[in-house]
Amino acid sequence: MILLKPLFDLGVLPIRHRSGRGFKPHVSLVFNAERRLTFAIDTTNSFSPDAYLITHAHSDHHGKSAMLSEKAVCSEETAKALEILYGKKYAGRTFNVGETIDICGVDVRTYPTHHTIGSCAFYWENDVGTRILVTGDVKDAKDMPKCDLMVTEANYGDPDDPKCHFNDDIDAFRQAVEAGDVAFGAYAFGKAQRAVKLLRESGYSGEIGMEPVSRALTEGLMTNTGALADLESDCGVRITTPGGITGVKAARKFILTGMRYRFPTINISDHMDVDGLIGMVKKCEPEAVITYHPGGIRPLKLASYLNRMGIYAKALEEINTVVEI
Ligand SMILES: [Zn+2]
Repeated sequence: MILLKPLFDLGVLPIRHRSGRGFKPHVSLVFNAERRLTFAIDTTNSFSPDAYLITHAHSDHHGKSAMLSEKAVCSEETAKALEILYGKKYAGRTFNVGETIDICGVDVRTYPTHHTIGSCAFYWENDVGTRILVTGDVKDAKDMPKCDLMVTEANYGDPDDPKCHFNDDIDAFRQAVEAGDVAFGAYAFGKAQRAVKLLRESGYSGEIGMEPVSRALTEGLMTNTGALADLESDCGVRITTPGGITGVKAARKFILTGMRYRFPTINISDHMDVDGLIGMVKKCEPEAVITYHPGGIRPLKLASYLNRMGIYAKALEEINTVVEI
């Protein structure tokens, strides 16, 4: 219990659920707000919390499963994206990002995180006045409020890894567009819409050929997309999935990613780099941080860096309060 003492003082118990098949993804927060409540964060629909908060529609945040519960809560756009991605009806409640919503009698504020269309952070207070902020994945922390407990991501959270220090290479993207006959590999949800937005911002007004799922998501979630077409049509710019890039006809091909790839890449990320993450923590001034995502060592690396900065921090895998289900 010593390990979790700062969280005990804040009146929040982070727990992980485990069944015979292993840990459920991500974390749930138990707290009192007139009564004891459990909010599950980006986890699967597999136990009975009071609410499933879904920060955004990327598959590693498990909306595919949580969307089937009446206890799911996410933004209008996230619900729409989940329905397009998975062909199922979203069963929970929705809101517009920026609204305050009542979840089980708790006023929960929502803030844009600029990571994907519809992505948002959730913020509420418990009975002892602890301000809890769950960020999900973040591209820009400009709207994040001050808080006492922050539950956040560490996708690029390792200060010792050079790949975790980057800026978006907008110039390289624009040069590739100007050269013409180019194809970009981008994840269908998130990156593909970011690419369309960047193309239009850079003044490209021609047709954009898109892979079907990317196109359905873009047309379903964005306004002012300009003319979109299918991949086979005669256009100067194409957007497909990273896996689909080999089969696309184009003189130049790039994957839009901060990761290593077997094709040339252009660094356009849906995330902040590690300096951005550390800057967000400093700005929000939490007393305690839980790094809950993704798998691998980066959440541990970010938590240990924050601890050295004098901020109590734990990675998800260090949370040893486990509920068997
Ligand atoms: Zn994400």
